[in-house]
Amino acid sequence: MAKETGIVSWKDLALGCAIVEPGSSANLKTGDWRSQRPVTDYEKCIQCGQCYIFCPDMVYTQNEKGFYHPNLFYCKGCGICAKECPSDSITMVEESD
Ligand code: SF4
Ligand code: SF4
Repeated sequence: MAKETGIVSWKDLALGCAIVEPGSSANLKTGDWRSQRPVTDYEKCIQCGQCYIFCPDMVYTQNEKGFYHPNLFYCKGCGICAKECPSDSITMVEESD
């Protein structure tokens, strides 16, 4: 560590939220990074699949009734799904709410 600046070298960073084994990324709970989460109003949803298409983490899956649900274990709360939803069905809410 550079004592005078307080800046830590990457080599000195604590091993924490990192992918350290091949094929282990599925075990990484990236939802822990989130400060907001998407909440869907299924009364307004037109089942277009835009949330599924645009989510950069591909966390949406479609159920047998045709509705899309985000897997909050992986959702990072970026809000892209809410931005792209054509029927304004998705609202981002504070994680603490
Ligand atoms: S983008 Fe909106 S309207 Fe389309 S499936 Fe997702 S929640 Fe429903
Ligand atoms: S907030 Fe971002 S990561 Fe989460 S479901 Fe929507 S698009 Fe995907």
